[in-house]
Amino acid sequence: MVTWSKKHLEMTLQQIPPHPHPKRWLEQYATPAPLAAEMLHTAFLYGDIEGKVVADLGCGTGILAIGAALLGASRVYGVDVDEEALEVAKGWAERLGVSVEFIAGDVQEFGIQVDTVVQNPPFGDRPGHGDLPFLDKALQVAGVVYTFHDAKALSFLERSLEGKGRITLRRTLPFVLPRLFPFHTHDRKTIQIVLLRIEPLKG
Ligand code: SAH
Repeated sequence: MVTWSKKHLEMTLQQIPPHPHPKRWLEQYATPAPLAAEMLHTAFLYGDIEGKVVADLGCGTGILAIGAALLGASRVYGVDVDEEALEVAKGWAERLGVSVEFIAGDVQEFGIQVDTVVQNPPFGDRPGHGDLPFLDKALQVAGVVYTFHDAKALSFLERSLEGKGRITLRRTLPFVLPRLFPFHTHDRKTIQIVLLRIEPLKG
């Protein structure tokens, strides 16, 4: 098994392209490689990746799913509604020599129990609008969840998690949004996001 430094992982994941034709309503912002490496390396150090069954909900072109497989997950699922994104993801998993089971469909229909979910869900334009269904699904199927959210939504998410999950790590990070759609007025915009590690409270 190769040992991966965070930098080596980042450089490898850097090759995976974002969605070729992003659609506004699916909020297809690919995770930049440094942030993907930050999440995956952190999860690896917690012992939540190597030898574990991992799912990436809303996997897009697969950066988190493929990264989890590179770090030694025993099995990886990547779920997305967008088949064009999944085609790109499959090509890159093959090129990087890892096996990921990509599933075309809505995350709400995903019912396989896994050890770990890694996800960068759509944030939505109101707190919880886009990401809460992803978070709820992740808490249902996983033993532990690593997830990115808009930092502005944190207090809303904390309230939503009451009785459902316990945040055991939070790290604020800058996320540079590329100019993805014609209605964007600035070339780039930086927002603050939070990386959360959440342990579901099963009751
Ligand atoms: N996780 C990827 C993509 C993030 S963008 C990355 O980190 O780069 C969010 C992704 O969620 C998009 O690929 C979009 O197609 C997908 N998505 C949005 N709503 C979905 C749903 N209901 N079910 C499955 N995938 C969905």
